[in-house]
Amino acid sequence: MLLAVGLLSTRNTASSRRTSAADLTADPRVQQALAAFTVYAAAITDEQIRLSEIPAPPFHESVRAAYLGKLLAEIGLKVRTDEAGNLIAERPGKGKGDLVLIAAHLDTVFPAGTDVHVRRENGKLYGPGISDNGTGLTALVAIARAMRDAKLETRSTLLFAGTVGEEGEGNLRGIRKMMESYRKQIRYVIALDGASTDYITTAALASRRVEIGVNGPGGHSWSDFGAPNPIHALARGIAAFVKTPVPEDPRTTFNVGEIEGGTSVNTIPAKAQIKVDLRSESEPEIAKMETALRAAIQGGVDEEMTIARNRGMAGEPLTVEARVLGVRPGGELPSNSPLLAAVRAADDYLGNRSRLERSSTDANIPLSIGIPAIALGAGGRSGGAHSLEEWYEPAGRDAGLQRILLTILHVAELAGPND
Ligand SMILES: [Zn+2]
Repeated sequence: MLLAVGLLSTRNTASSRRTSAADLTADPRVQQALAAFTVYAAAITDEQIRLSEIPAPPFHESVRAAYLGKLLAEIGLKVRTDEAGNLIAERPGKGKGDLVLIAAHLDTVFPAGTDVHVRRENGKLYGPGISDNGTGLTALVAIARAMRDAKLETRSTLLFAGTVGEEGEGNLRGIRKMMESYRKQIRYVIALDGASTDYITTAALASRRVEIGVNGPGGHSWSDFGAPNPIHALARGIAAFVKTPVPEDPRTTFNVGEIEGGTSVNTIPAKAQIKVDLRSESEPEIAKMETALRAAIQGGVDEEMTIARNRGMAGEPLTVEARVLGVRPGGELPSNSPLLAAVRAADDYLGNRSRLERSSTDANIPLSIGIPAIALGAGGRSGGAHSLEEWYEPAGRDAGLQRILLTILHVAELAGPND
């Protein structure tokens, strides 16, 4: 890799603590580490396959965490697991103990028993979770290894963490715990999630997940016909809810993602429930959507009860139970944050173009409490996230890893050999 910008001194003196991308890449150790991602590309991909083939269903990340811990310990990092199940590997800095956290989530959306075997075909890898978040986890290991091999040191201590519970009902519990433990010392958080180099997630998408259940007397489809039916009530409510207008700006979305209930086709069900995901660039819009959802379902239940009464079958009424499964707070990185400037500098150096994005990641929690955080893809290309057809293409991953490493060295401050 050639250096296109004016070179400054390769020596890091105590008075020049702030580094630019030019400072960084003039250091031969940095060049060695950057080159490693290209040299070891095949080995990095093999590692990704091994990590992704260890199942990590929601709430069951411990086997994958242990394997990640073994890899990071072999690199020489001090490894521990916290009460939440996060795998935390520490790389001490030369400064006063402030921290930069590099986090990748361990969990997948796939339930236990899903075949997570990875298949290679035409330069692509196919397998559930291969990219989200096999790519991010592999990046932790590749970066830690390249830093060790090139003897790179930083002023801030680095924490490489495999976090639990990023997806769905995990409700970001891993990163929440990390923030609880380290809030005072953490200066920056970089979440590595999935593939790509073309975005920087600087804003946290607020979301809320709600479960609504309807219970009733149940009965026989023929002899009890007319008794209130929880599935019918939910269907009426859903049909009304999905007509709720949502603003385009701030962008606001809803999804009835799960529906279950009933015991057999010829039984009036005694219960049924739905799970709904609500997201918005603005938290008040989410609150409005939740109110609309509850009102629509209650309306569906009332309608179903009216009809049951008209048929003389009201009997025991339907009841509604709503439960908030998870809340993800919003937040935004200030546009003048040094963390954003660091990614921009890396992009300039690599000739990479990227856009700012808002999404729901481990960065949500630090952003919501004012700790500078971003999420980045860890290079390569992917598709079909959260589906059984998920794929990842490693070509170009090296640029993604270089981008992350330069960002880390910038914000954690590369230390010279004599510092
Ligand atoms: Zn992810």
